[in-house]
Amino acid sequence: MLSSKQEEFRRKTRNFLIREIAPSVVDYDLKEEFPLDNFNKLSNQGLMGLQVPIKYGGMGLGEIECGILLEELGRICSAHATIVGAHLGLCIAPILLFGSEVQKKKYLPRLSSGEIIGGFALTEWAAGSDVKNIQTVAEKVGSDFVLNGNKIFCTNGNRAGLVIVFAVTNKSHRPSRGVTAFLVERWMPGFSVGKVERKTGIRASTTVELVFDNCVVPDENILGHLGTGLRVALTALDGGRAGLAAGALGVAEQALDHSIDVMTNDKAKSSTVNRQSLQIMIADMAIEVVAARLMTYNTLHEVHEYFKRLAIGEKVLRSSRHHISRNCSIVKAYVSEVASRAVRTALEIHAIEGLEVGQALERYFRDSSIAEIYEGTNEIQRLIIARDLLGLHSDKNGE
Ligand SMILES: Cc1cc2nc3c(=O)[nH]c(=O)nc-3n(C[C@H](O)[C@H](O)[C@H](O)COP(=O)(O)OP(=O)(O)OC[C@H]3O[C@@H](n4cnc5c(N)ncnc54)[C@H](O)[C@@H]3O)c2cc1C
Repeated sequence: MLSSKQEEFRRKTRNFLIREIAPSVVDYDLKEEFPLDNFNKLSNQGLMGLQVPIKYGGMGLGEIECGILLEELGRICSAHATIVGAHLGLCIAPILLFGSEVQKKKYLPRLSSGEIIGGFALTEWAAGSDVKNIQTVAEKVGSDFVLNGNKIFCTNGNRAGLVIVFAVTNKSHRPSRGVTAFLVERWMPGFSVGKVERKTGIRASTTVELVFDNCVVPDENILGHLGTGLRVALTALDGGRAGLAAGALGVAEQALDHSIDVMTNDKAKSSTVNRQSLQIMIADMAIEVVAARLMTYNTLHEVHEYFKRLAIGEKVLRSSRHHISRNCSIVKAYVSEVASRAVRTALEIHAIEGLEVGQALERYFRDSSIAEIYEGTNEIQRLIIARDLLGLHSDKNGE
């Protein structure tokens, strides 16, 4: 399914990650520390601007290569996949799709080189699954907007130089037309970092509250148009979910590889290889991993084609948008659950050794269930899937 160039990209990326990134991931996890050193190494390889056109300082590749990178990162550390997924999928992608030429020239080279890290701030206490209930407001004052409110659980938030922030600009047009996306730089007055969350899993990926206290953002920093923020957010999340699935695929594959390894090479467990119940577990994992892989790359391919059309301003039918959203929800829900099941099965096969702190499986166990929650819980993915299948869209009469 992948071209020979893409396979070559995978081979080089995997070698680089194993050599340069893998040795330190346990340490960053145990210290709950953002792996800035590793982020810089990835940037130096050009990987932080993977899908950015060469003219804006990127590598000029696409969604498939982003998926390959996230899958390979997922194999070694979900926290690293999360950091990179937020930077590439939730910050850079919406700028490519909705940014003005001025915004692209201003931000993409700096994001691609890793000079600044990207973030995406949608979630609030009352607006997690219910994104339409955003309370952060942006009021027009002269040629600026003044933002007030709090965002929570923002990945990369305390490291980001640029965050895409969603705020209500017109209460009477809400929910669907009243929200606007803003490109907010961390040094803009009134922007600060609040609580830093402590989490059971993906601990090297920092997740923070962002506080906007009369934060002044010039109106040229609107991403897209006034009132189109939800469209920007939901499109970014479509691509983000396909990328998240790629990271989860890497976790599932690694759990399978670990299990095969222990059943074939571990002398102390040599008899295990004969236990048919364990063989059946391995086979079940393999069946799901193969299905997950096909589904992930099929969806990434669809997203790549869809994003190419959006990036050149082509009109895309509403039904096509819904189709993409449905497929991204399907792949996100399915593959994140495959990964969680694979890790649990691998733990059963490894038994006590898999639970030791510092062991990869113990970390995968803490990390994997988070993919079922972020970028929309799997219950919400199921509602998106059902809404499309049953024709229950709220924008039936809209654009
Ligand atoms: C590690 C991590 C990183 C994150 N990074 C970011 C980020 O970078 N940017 C960002 O904006 N957000 C981020 N998030 C937030 C994430 O997207 C939300 O946690 C997620 O969307 C769920 O929202 P919530 O936690 O408020 O859950 P709630 O919306 O409060 O949901 C609670 C439970 O109710 C269920 N539920 C809610 N509504 C319905 C319904 N209508 N029908 C059926 N069940 C329902 C949910 O499935 C869930 O099980 C992150 C979260 C985590 C854990």
